[in-house]
This record gives sequence, structure tokens and C-alpha cells, in this order.
Amino acid sequence: MTDAVTVITAKRDGQRLSDHDIGWLFQAYAKGEVADEQMSALLMAIYFQGLDPGELRTWTAAMIASGDRLDLSSITRPTVDKHSTGGVGDKVSLILAPLVAACGAAVPQLSGRGLGHTGGTLDKLESIPGFRTALTPAQTLDVLAETGCVICAAGSGLAPADRRLYALRDVTGTVESIPLIASSIMSKKIAEGTSALVLDVKVGTGAFMKNHREAGQLARTMVALGEEHGVRTRALLTRMDVPLGRMVGNAVEVEESIAALQGYGPADLMEVTLALAVQMLTLAGIDADPAAAITDGRALTAYRDMVRAQGGDPDAALPRAAHIRTALPAPADGWLTRLDALAVGTAAWRLGAGRARKEDPVSAAAGVICLAKPGDRVRAGQPLLELRADDETRFGPALAALDGAIEVGQQPPSPVPLVIEEIGPA
Ligand code: URA
Repeated sequence: MTDAVTVITAKRDGQRLSDHDIGWLFQAYAKGEVADEQMSALLMAIYFQGLDPGELRTWTAAMIASGDRLDLSSITRPTVDKHSTGGVGDKVSLILAPLVAACGAAVPQLSGRGLGHTGGTLDKLESIPGFRTALTPAQTLDVLAETGCVICAAGSGLAPADRRLYALRDVTGTVESIPLIASSIMSKKIAEGTSALVLDVKVGTGAFMKNHREAGQLARTMVALGEEHGVRTRALLTRMDVPLGRMVGNAVEVEESIAALQGYGPADLMEVTLALAVQMLTLAGIDADPAAAITDGRALTAYRDMVRAQGGDPDAALPRAAHIRTALPAPADGWLTRLDALAVGTAAWRLGAGRARKEDPVSAAAGVICLAKPGDRVRAGQPLLELRADDETRFGPALAALDGAIEVGQQPPSPVPLVIEEIGPA
């Protein structure tokens, strides 16, 4: 027999929670016998004391067991998914899912929405007229079987405990905890039923994890959890100090993704996308060159098929912003050496592309276009960004976020690889 206060004080005082404690806690929480304020106190205790690998395994299993699991056994192709910890201009999923599908895998991508300065795949796709992200499990399987990829919201039946816990963490300062982030992400991905998973763990100013050490720890924790639950899991640590590509927002990122699928993707976006595609195909046991699927148009066809299967019109015009303004004139002739991802992401958010609370609406058309990227030669006075918004009052707060976001130097910056480290099972 246990009770919530005993579990909370045990963790507060640095003791280990037994499998029985954790199992009891989740069941009692689901029945309303553990109150939200008690769960919040426990989350704060975990924030400070952590969870050891055994506790984390049981905690994640309890989150998965709180709901249903998607049954992908009817899908004949090997299933493989990708998850990004979130970044600025990170439209990789829109390109990667059809690209990997075009190479022969099935990509069941249950995605999230943007929060704060990071964008969300569902928000981006919903800027396509007619596109539906809310699918039933049966519809999800139909789209996956028909087109090889599906990008939709995780239904309310999948890891429902995570939804409740995330809402508490969001308002109690307990989001930034490695075991809580790892169990939150991995419970949803494991419940999704994929056989293999590649994690894109972002590191840098525009990412959750600001340094390599923490990002590595998060990646290793998630890889171990995936493998323990029978999902072949690998992670890439990738740089997120500069926005990925040139477009940051919703419709503008769809536009850039289509250009990428047509073979005109910016080099940084393609570097990350192709590195992840190679990992996914390796895990799926498929010997294919993803770059070839772009060159010969198969990836673009798979994207168009997926958009149509989810109710969207791939040929419809995307929403356009009512107000467009250039910003950030280069202070001198030289090379752009810094364009801060967090500042650009915050500006896009303030222009309306992102949300402050999960239930807020987003603007499809708002966003930031990077007219220059680090490494580009610039002339004094040349505008470095274009801002787009539905409402002119958004420009002032967005410009304030961009204060100090750029540096122009007299030497070009040294090119840096975007993939910092590859992490497999220990
Ligand atoms: N994304 C999630 O799904 N959960 C977290 O805790 C953080 C990011």
C-alpha cells in the first residue's frame, strides 16, 4: 500500500521509486486519486533528483500503458520514423517522410505543434488548403498503406498520460528535465508502433538543449529507451544555432520544402535531411540513394500523394501575408558571420507563426525570410531579413526580438558540419 505523499517525499529526498510505486502512481492518477498538484510536486522532485535508468524504463512503460498502441502489422513495408527535438526553420519532416517513402519504407509520422519559438510540423502542413492532420487510427493506416507516409497528430488515445503530464510541466517549470523529456517523446513514438526511429537532437541557441553534453545525454537516454522497447533507435546531434534553410514560419516553410523536393533545397537543409534519410533507410534495411529519389522526382510524387490522401490540394495557392517588410540592414560591407536561430524563431513567433499556449491559433502566412545566411557576402545597408505578418502591429515586437541577432565580419566564417555526432545503442 502506498500513497502520493510517500512517493513525492521519497523522490524529493533522493530515494529510488520502485516499479510498484510508479505503476501505482499512474493508475491512481488516471482514476483521479492523485491530484494534479501532487503530480506537479513529484515532477519538480524528478526535475531535481532525476530518474535512474530502471525508474525511467518503468515510468516510460507506464506512460505507454496509459493508452493504446497503433498496430502497424498490416503495413508490408518496413516502418521507420524520425523525431526532431525542435528547431527554427526545421521543415525536415515535410521533405524526409515522402523521400524515405519513395525509397521503399513506410513512415508513420505522428507529429506535434509548435510551442514558443520552435515551429511544429502540423502547423506548417495545415497551411495547405484542405490538409487534415486529425486522422483516426484507421485513416492513418489507410494513408500509410496507400502512399508510404502519413504526417498527422497523435490521437488522444496514444500515451494520454503524457498529454496530462506535459500540460502540468508546461506551467510548473519542469519541461527541461532529461528523463521527463525522454519519456515524453519516447512513450509517444513507441506507442505509435514504428519498428525503427531516428532522433534528430538539436543543439544550439535555437534548440531545447543549448550544449553538446546535455544533448548527448538526452540522445543516449532516448536511444536506450527505444531499444529497450524493441524499437531500433539511432540519434544524430545536429547544429541549431542558425535557422535551417531560409524560410521560418508555416506556409513559407511548405514552399521551401516543395522547392527542396524539386531539387532546389538550400545546402544546410539538404545536408540534415539526407543525413537523416540515410540513417532511416539503414535502420529499415533498405539500400537506396535518397538523393536520387529527389533528382528523379519520386520524392515529390510521394509528397503530392500524401497531401492528396490527407485531403489537401498540392496545387492550391498557399496563404500570403497582408504585410511584408524588410528588416535588419547589414551594418557594414563584409560576410554575415552570425544569424541567431533563437532571435529569428522568436521574431517569427511574434509575427504570428507560433503560439504561446497550446490552444492558441497560428497564422499560416506569417514568418521570416532570411535574405542572407552566414557565409554570404553582404553590402552595408542591404536588408538581411524579410518579415511577413497578417497584422502590422506585429512588426514592432518582432523587430525587438531581432536586436543583436546578426554579426557581419571582415572574413567569411569557417564552414561547420551540421551533423555533430551519431549516437547508437551503448
Ligand atoms: N517534446 C515532447 O513531446 N515532450 C517534451 O517533454 C519535450 C518536447
